[in-house]
Amino acid sequence: MPTLTRSAELFEQAKKTIPGGVNSPVRAFKSVGGIPIYMAKGQGAYMTDVDGNTYLDYVGSWGPFILGSMHPRITAALEETLTKVGTSFGTPIEMEIEIAELLAEIVPSIEMVRMVNSGTEATMSAVRLARGYTGRDKIIKFEGCYHGHGDSFLIKAGSGALTLGAPDSPGVTKGTANDTLNAKYNDIDSVRLLVSENKGNVAAIIIEPVAGNTGVIPANPAFLQALRDLCTEEGIVLIFDEVMCGFRVALGGAQERYGISPDLTTMGKIIGGGLPVGAFGGKREIMERVAPIGDVYQAGTLSGNPLALTAGLETLKILRDENPYPELERKAAFLEEGFRDNLNKLGLNYTQNRMGSMACLFFTDQTVTDYDTAITTDTQKYGKYFHAMLDEGIYLAPSQFEAMFTSAVMTDEDLEKTVKANYAALQTAEA
Ligand SMILES: *Cc1c(COP(=O)(O)O)cnc(C)c1O
Repeated sequence: MPTLTRSAELFEQAKKTIPGGVNSPVRAFKSVGGIPIYMAKGQGAYMTDVDGNTYLDYVGSWGPFILGSMHPRITAALEETLTKVGTSFGTPIEMEIEIAELLAEIVPSIEMVRMVNSGTEATMSAVRLARGYTGRDKIIKFEGCYHGHGDSFLIKAGSGALTLGAPDSPGVTKGTANDTLNAKYNDIDSVRLLVSENKGNVAAIIIEPVAGNTGVIPANPAFLQALRDLCTEEGIVLIFDEVMCGFRVALGGAQERYGISPDLTTMGKIIGGGLPVGAFGGKREIMERVAPIGDVYQAGTLSGNPLALTAGLETLKILRDENPYPELERKAAFLEEGFRDNLNKLGLNYTQNRMGSMACLFFTDQTVTDYDTAITTDTQKYGKYFHAMLDEGIYLAPSQFEAMFTSAVMTDEDLEKTVKANYAALQTAEA
């Protein structure tokens, strides 16, 4: 058991001036119990807490750290920008063109792109743009998908909302809630029904093509293709929310892996390399409606600032130049197979979902394809498993409904350690 004396003290202190002691809900450990661990230092695949305990990190700042924390090329680039450029100007800078061109090269469906400061901003802006472009009000999202904390999305949402058992939020007006329709993930008929009931009123369908906020649930390829076709037929803007799966499941994201192009893409997490960045982009015809060239307003004081762009650019360049994806696949597959062997040895039949280096072990025998099947998982067992893994020095997401991210800097030794820990932790969870 790691000693968490200092974390416990800090948490008590934090609760006095920060709601729940945290700046983002899942960090509070509410669904797994215990107290959140205050980290002091990140290095590669490891994090060290304020009590001096070190953990192998499978959260990776919730996705950005596909190359680990403090990658030497990224920190060097940040130092260079900090000392030679500055932190912000609020004017155009050359680096903005560089990242826009690189994104267009990596993700061919992106003809134009606007940089923002978070995934939430990206999805909110993309939906406003789709509404402005189509002149329609309604959007369709999927139960359990998370698109940040914008009002329109907090209806049957995933991630922290689901973890806390509050997928709908007070403070969202009835009008906004009425404009958000929820379909079932991987169920095209549920989408067709909503579209026909709201004929001519649906502006956008937004989806995580690999859902990562209800645990991990890859879209069925036929379902995703049917969604694409339906949007084309009905003049609906198809938005792939690739904030998590973008640059993660392949360099070009889920759209590259599936070979299906959305009209708009929202990005975040990896694109910021650990700094706050988001982006939305897509078809020129739609993006030309964004202010100042178009009439759909969108702006940001710190959007496209040099530090954030430096971290993002350097991350994307490393991913493009070094192509870590085959190795990530091998590493994540090693974990999946190791966990499968452990489950078999223990006579357990739990479900694992994985795409590339995004994975999830669900404590259920059911095949997990959507929200309803995801919530058949035993979250109490997950809590026990989570704490047992912590005891083994492995830091997983403090919620069943999040992804386990393998990073490129994990060594075979790290992975073997994880498989061993998994065996012990499964035993503890079942005891
Ligand atoms: C994390 C996430 C968001 C929100 O991004 P923030 O940067 O936390 O605002 C949106 N969509 C998806 C799919 C995400 O995983």
